[in-house]
Formats: sequence, structure tokens, C-alpha cells
Amino acid sequence: MNADFFKHLEVTWRMELGIPRQGPSVTAMYRSSDVEAVVIGAGPYGLAVASHLKASGVSTHVFGEPMSFWAEHMPRGMRLRSPLRASHIADPDGAFSLDRYSAEKRIACDEQMPIGRFVDYGTWFQRQAVPDLDRRKVSRVETSGSVFRVTLADGDRFSAERVIVATGLANQQFRPAVFDGLAAQFVSHTCEHANFEAFKGMRIAIVGRGQSACESAVLLTEAGAEVELICRGDIRWLGSARWRKDWERALYECAAPMITSPSNIGRFPLNWLIEFPALVHRLPAKTRNWVDSVGTRAGAANWILPRFTNVRVRCGSPVLEAVQDGAEVAVTVGDKRIRFDHVLLATGYKIDVSKMDVFAPELGRAIACTESSPHLTGEFESSVARLHFAGASAAENFGPLMRFVAGTSFAGRSIAQAARRRRAASGIIARGAETRLSGAQQTQRS
Ligand SMILES: Cc1cc2nc3c(=O)[nH]c(=O)nc-3n(C[C@H](O)[C@H](O)[C@H](O)COP(=O)(O)OP(=O)(O)OC[C@H]3O[C@@H](n4cnc5c(N)ncnc54)[C@H](O)[C@@H]3O)c2cc1C
Repeated sequence: MNADFFKHLEVTWRMELGIPRQGPSVTAMYRSSDVEAVVIGAGPYGLAVASHLKASGVSTHVFGEPMSFWAEHMPRGMRLRSPLRASHIADPDGAFSLDRYSAEKRIACDEQMPIGRFVDYGTWFQRQAVPDLDRRKVSRVETSGSVFRVTLADGDRFSAERVIVATGLANQQFRPAVFDGLAAQFVSHTCEHANFEAFKGMRIAIVGRGQSACESAVLLTEAGAEVELICRGDIRWLGSARWRKDWERALYECAAPMITSPSNIGRFPLNWLIEFPALVHRLPAKTRNWVDSVGTRAGAANWILPRFTNVRVRCGSPVLEAVQDGAEVAVTVGDKRIRFDHVLLATGYKIDVSKMDVFAPELGRAIACTESSPHLTGEFESSVARLHFAGASAAENFGPLMRFVAGTSFAGRSIAQAARRRRAASGIIARGAETRLSGAQQTQRS
């Protein structure tokens, strides 16, 4: 970067931040920033956002183990619930889609893709789009003047003008309070397991009735466990005509392609609103909240049903108490007390910024939240300038699409736009972006 760049940036910053013309040099502050953007997390969202930033010429450093949540916190044998058409990790040119992956690897990608294959796709995407990924873990983010200081688990430090938090569901698992106090031997969350082999021959209670609960129940029975699924209400089998009302069924039969939305999230007609996160963002907070909770109401794909035969289901009552009783755990459901060797919580996730352990206390306090989810602008920026959140932590603002890989394109484009706008305001032409100008534009420029 040349001297003019810093001079221009200094003038613009002073104007934007209301800093007097005299005083400590803003330029000096910028020089102390190693990169323009740091992305924390290398799951679908971190990788997609990084690929969009890089394509915009924004110098970007990405931290995290690629696809580690899928590889280490979901049980082997699980399959994608989202349709293939909604499972591409987004890059700006669509060059690293599942289609390109399957063509290059000469393998067929079918619906209900095993998660092992999806992890392989994600790591392939990373090698193509973010080859310079830094696999180290971030342990602390804090502000220092106008930049962010990012400390890594090994003590190394980085500084950046902009930080994108794409840490996914790490530390966000929801555990109903009734299970507090039980030792880990007796209760665990589904995210604590990459396989179920250790449960062979055991009696397991699964709490929940969504995709994770039903698929885990099947995988456990197939691993040789005896399984009872405990849930408040009936299981809603998605894609099954059983739960459709008469008028919906009739409509569905003659207009299935119009009723089914690309990402297949939520029921008609809400599913179509969910496809437009920018529109959801403009809704009043209460309505957005409703869209998110109705759109992600617990349900399981009906292709699990044929394998569900050995699962006992106890619907209608929540768990009232769970206590250790010798080498067992005694669970009270309604007026029944049932003994198990272990309780598996398939109770989902709830975003809580205070549980994201990377923020320095002062920075954590400065992030404005509603019910523990961050408030975000249309460009995913939090109340702390240039601190963005992508993925499930943005669902409160943009709706359920952000809980799925299908939302990576919108998030990537929006965050890259924020970075580009900032550069444009400073009169900087991104060097990377320049190289992406089309031939026609280049001719015009010369
Ligand atoms: C059981 C289950 C099944 C699902 N099935 C589907 C499905 O079929 N289709 C679908 O679209 N979605 C599905 N989802 C949702 C899925 O989790 C999200 O779509 C997707 O993983 C979100 O990507 P992400 O990048 O936000 O988060 P993640 O995939 O969770 O990635 C977060 C990344 O951040 C990294 N990280 C965390 N903390 C740090 C740190 N301090 N420093 C550095 N790196 C860090 C992790 O290593 C990880 O790589 C499923 C979720 C679950 C739990």
C-alpha cells in the first residue's frame, strides 16, 4: 500500500470518526492492522464469507479447523436433511459447487448425502477457495483503538480492521434445566458424539423430536442400543402427506413445484418468505422471531421412517425430573418413572453471545443483543462497528435460512459488500478487485 493510500484513508477516517485534524495519527493505527478482515471459523459460513471477501480484493485471514463441527460433533452415518440444490457452499462465481465437486471427483452426489461426503466437499471447497487457511484456534478478540486484536490459542496475535464471527453452533447447545446436576456419564448432548458405538447394549432415552432426535434414535438402534424417544408432542414427519391438511394436500398434488421452495425450509407459504432474508430483516422484531421459530419447528424427514421401526416413542409429556439412581438414571415422564443407562439430549441449540468464549468481557458487553442473539444490520454488522456475525447467530435477524448452508450466498455477498463500501468510502480500489475487472472494463480503463 502506498503513501497516498494511507493519506486518503486518514482523511476519510478523521471525517467519519469525527476525529480533529490534529492529534495522534490514524494512519499509524491502520498500519498496526495486519489484515483488513479476520474470519473466525472454517465451516460453510466462514469459508463462503472468506471466498467473497477475497474475491472483492479484501485481504482476509481465516482461522479454524475446516468443517470440524460436521466431522466431530455429528454422528457418523447421519445424512443431510437439506436438498442437494440447497447444500452448495457459496463462492461468488459458483465455481465450487457440489456439481463441480462431483464432476472433479468423478462421484455421484445424491439426495440425503452422508455427512462424511459433505465434510469431504467442504474441505475440497476450502482447498480451492481458501487455500491459505490458518487452522489455529482463536482464543480472544478485543478492540484496541480502531482495530481488533485477535489472540490465538498458541499466543500468536493478529490485528484486523474487520472481524467476522462464523463459529457456528460451538458452545450453543441447549440443555433443559431438568438435567442440570447429572454427571456426564448419565446425560450428554447429541453434539458430544461423532459415533454411537459406545452405546451398544445400553438403554438410551433420547429427548427431542426433530431431525437430530429421530436420526440419532435410528443410528443408536443400528449400533445395538435399546432406544426410547421422549417428546412433548407428536413427531412431525416432513415430506409426509400425513400431517398436511386436506386443502394443503390437494394444492400440493397439483402445484408441488411452486409450493416447494428451493431450500425446503418451513411450510408453505412461509417457506417462500424464508427464501428472502433481506425481506425478513425488514420485518418487525416480533414477526422475525415468529418466522424463525415457526420456520424451524421440530420435524424429521420422512425418509427416516422405514428405519424407525425399532424405536419406542413416548409422546405427550415433557421430562419432569431426571436423577441418578445407582448406576442408572431415573427419568420421570408424566406419572411414570423410567430407568435408563443414559439420556441423550437432542434438544437443539440456542444462540447466546455470552457463551461465545472468544470475546474479551468489554467487547462482549458492547454487543447489543435481543434475547442473547446479536442485533445485526443488513450487512450482518453488530452494534460494534466492523464486527459481523454469520451463520446461525444471524437467524434472529434474517430468519431460518441462516441456520442452513443455503444462506451462505446471501451472507457472503452482504458482508463483502460492507467491506467494499468501506473501501469505496475511503477512495481505495481493491487491488484484487482490479484484477477481476472484465476485459471490456479493462479496455475502457486503458
Ligand atoms: C445434526 C445437525 C444436522 C444438520 N444438517 C444440516 C443439513 O442437512 N443442511 C444444512 O444446510 N444444515 C444442516 N445443519 C446446520 C449446520 O450446522 C449449518 O448449516 C452449518 O454448519 C453452518 O455453518 P457454520 O460455518 O455457521 O458453522 P459450523 O459448520 O459449525 O462451523 C464453525 C466453524 O468454526 C470453527 N470455530 C469455532 N470456534 C472457533 C475458534 N475459537 N477459533 C477458530 N475456529 C473456530 C469450528 O472449528 C468450525 O469449523 C445441521 C446441524 C446439525 C446440528
